[in-house]
Amino acid sequence: MTSLPADSHVHSEFSWDTGGPASAARGTMRATCERAVRIGLPGLFFTEHLDLEDAWVSDHEDFDEHEAHLLDEDGVVSVPRFDVEGYLEEIDRCRAAFPELAIGTGLEFGQPGLRTDAARAQLDLTAFDRITGSLHTLELDDHRVEPNTMFRRLTAGDVIRRYLAEVPAVVAADGPHEVVTHIDYAVRYWPEEAEGPFDPRRFEEELRGAMRAIADSGRALEINTRRLRPWIPQWWAEEGGRTISFGSDSHTALDIAANFPEAMALADWAGFRPGADPRELWRR
Ligand SMILES: [Zn+2]
Ligand SMILES: [Zn+2]
Repeated sequence: MTSLPADSHVHSEFSWDTGGPASAARGTMRATCERAVRIGLPGLFFTEHLDLEDAWVSDHEDFDEHEAHLLDEDGVVSVPRFDVEGYLEEIDRCRAAFPELAIGTGLEFGQPGLRTDAARAQLDLTAFDRITGSLHTLELDDHRVEPNTMFRRLTAGDVIRRYLAEVPAVVAADGPHEVVTHIDYAVRYWPEEAEGPFDPRRFEEELRGAMRAIADSGRALEINTRRLRPWIPQWWAEEGGRTISFGSDSHTALDIAANFPEAMALADWAGFRPGADPRELWRR
């Protein structure tokens, strides 16, 4: 049996959307490391959110109760600054407490195509072991808006197309991210009740185009294992993708490495193979 690959996309109490140390009791870095050791995960990267948006708005119902205080009455979102010093101290403590676990540092950097200069001004980005780029917000009327809010403003097909049209900008700049995550982020909020199940064939051209842009930039695509979609590794390989990572996108300890055996089988079927070290990207 091949050992599990490292989980390349894990959040802890240092991510603004876990609710902070008090309410993230089940998703603290320490609890997550304990869980990783218990399930035989050889390594993981704590990729905390770095979202440096300055004009982000949201509908109130799109924020959980523990995040409600991050919105003002006009729906303008401001998230707390990433506590990098506290994060690195806790990484050191966990490395000492769990020597059998390879603990990597990381970031999930939102909108890197737009925010790389701002990120470099705030942090030494070279100090992180794995930086994953993600697209969480889209341009709408001079604001940035998440897909869940946008599905109330535009037709469902428009939201998906706008999302995929912005993907090339995520990878165009000389951003620090070696991986791009959840290309299906907008699909998470697909209004299934009104539209029926999401059918990737309806957007095949746009999905493949977004994948080509990522592949052409030389970056890896993450298989975000929160929800497996077999067409992602298949089309990624067909569009020239050479490398993939595996990320659970967990916000609680119980969710780390979710669906990894199935994701490994999918990656293998699409022609990707592991390296010698579980922290390496899989290649084809
Ligand atoms: Zn994300
Ligand atoms: Zn995430």
